Amino acid sequence: MTRTGKDYLDALRDGRTIWLDGERVDDLTTHPAFRRSVRSIADLYDLTAEHPETLTASVPGVDGPVSRAYQIPRTKDELKAKGRAFKLWSEATFGFLGRSPDYMASAVAGMATVPGVLARDGFDGSANLLAHWRRMAEGDLYQAHTLVNPQIDRTKAPSEQMEDDLCLRVVAERDDGIVVRGAKMIGTAAALADEILVGVTQRMPPSEADYAVSFSVPVAAPGISFVSRTSYEARATSVFDYPLASRLDENDALVVYDDVFVPWERVFAYRDPEACHAQFWKTPAFVSFVHHGATRFWTKLEFLTGIAILVAKANNVYDMPPVRMQIGKLLSWVNTAKALVVAAEELCEPVPGADAVMPHRETAYAQLAVGPDLYPKVINEIKLLAGGGLIQLPSSYRDLLRPEVAALLGKYVKSPGYDAESRIKLFKLAWDAVGSEFAGRHDQYERFYHGAPHVYLPALVREGDPGRYAALAGRCLDGYELEDG
Ligand SMILES: Cc1cc2nc3c(=O)[nH]c(=O)nc-3n(C[C@H](O)[C@H](O)[C@H](O)COP(=O)(O)OP(=O)(O)OC[C@H]3O[C@@H](n4cnc5c(N)ncnc54)[C@H](O)[C@@H]3O)c2cc1C
Repeated sequence: MTRTGKDYLDALRDGRTIWLDGERVDDLTTHPAFRRSVRSIADLYDLTAEHPETLTASVPGVDGPVSRAYQIPRTKDELKAKGRAFKLWSEATFGFLGRSPDYMASAVAGMATVPGVLARDGFDGSANLLAHWRRMAEGDLYQAHTLVNPQIDRTKAPSEQMEDDLCLRVVAERDDGIVVRGAKMIGTAAALADEILVGVTQRMPPSEADYAVSFSVPVAAPGISFVSRTSYEARATSVFDYPLASRLDENDALVVYDDVFVPWERVFAYRDPEACHAQFWKTPAFVSFVHHGATRFWTKLEFLTGIAILVAKANNVYDMPPVRMQIGKLLSWVNTAKALVVAAEELCEPVPGADAVMPHRETAYAQLAVGPDLYPKVINEIKLLAGGGLIQLPSSYRDLLRPEVAALLGKYVKSPGYDAESRIKLFKLAWDAVGSEFAGRHDQYERFYHGAPHVYLPALVREGDPGRYAALAGRCLDGYELEDG
């Protein structure tokens, strides 16, 4: 069954260990660093009841209806329906919640499509994974993930770091489960979720078996703590001044696992680098990440382009030919982002070994390269369009409430069709989207949320069809000889 926003908020009061500004956070739902952002996530859950036809699905073998993100698409139509569900939620958050609950839900559904890749000599995690998918779907649970070892010395394997337990590893095996110790980065929204899936997407040699483990644990499991980054929500002086940071700060944290016990039934891959790799790359899990991420990215570019249009109109430059060129460029980028989603769905391919389809991998993975390139260009174009208006803004909404200052702002800050309040409101939103610390984090997010480029870009070659392109060039070469002159 699907949850309400209240169900989600109630579940957050479970004693989880979150550190922020030297203090332990007591209750996310009331804390100034989290309360509005968790409310935004709760609003997503509430949207489900308003749009059940888009956001839910009946899934064979699972008590439902469940969130559509947990559905395993069997046909192109089901895959497209999943894309529409991603679009609806991402529009509700303007593309600024990267790790909304549907992100990881769809990857878990991807893993459950071919659980057999986890049936290995030594350990078979396939039944655990299937049971996990069912439990997460039936509970409409919010899963975060930490897949990357902390950035300590990237020239060395996890076992070669200056201490044994810096990267998460198995430290004990018991009859009823395993004990893990170490850290993982970056847990986006992990502090706001119900469970964290730990895994590894990067290939590791057999010598690193202790570090090759995948499992899921509740966020409040004993031994787990989150060291949160600066809270943009807490620093946001008001919703009017920082409309995005104050409400859509999904939080990022170093996640420390200090002798965390994991029962066997929650383990998916155990001391097995191949199984860890297969969990993401031999199932539709990674391409499902990309399907969601690309849909959200398309929405974010739509939103940013909308801001650019409003800013150009507010400055009354919208009809100037060079400005039309700038807006045209933005529209071309929005449609590039859209085309990648539509094409990956339209060209969907069968999942080997399963009665299911997945987005066309080579097309979908193009987003991995295109997204990080496009995002800074979009931001740059909006900054160029907006000029000094992004900076010449009163310090806070309070200036508009103070009659002496409001009189000055009313006289000197306005545009055709915009009084001081509406112009300041628009430009403050634009600043939060392109220039604030929150905006800076999004710039970095769009570059790295899929992992490091040297890890994910080779996937384009591995999972794509480079031979086809080489053959085309080869056919041209074969068409003439030295003797042809
Ligand atoms: C805002 C944000 C949120 C994120 N959220 C999550 C999340 O929720 N869950 C999660 O699991 N991950 C998440 N990530 C991704 C993850 O934590 C890493 O940031 C990402 O995998 C990149 O790894 P890294 O930062 O350690 O970069 P590194 O691997 O250190 O790479 C940084 C740069 O160093 C160079 N470099 C390093 N090693 C090599 C090499 N072997 N070959 C060539 N060049 C190299 C390259 O220039 C590379 O771009 C997030 C990242 C960001 C920025």
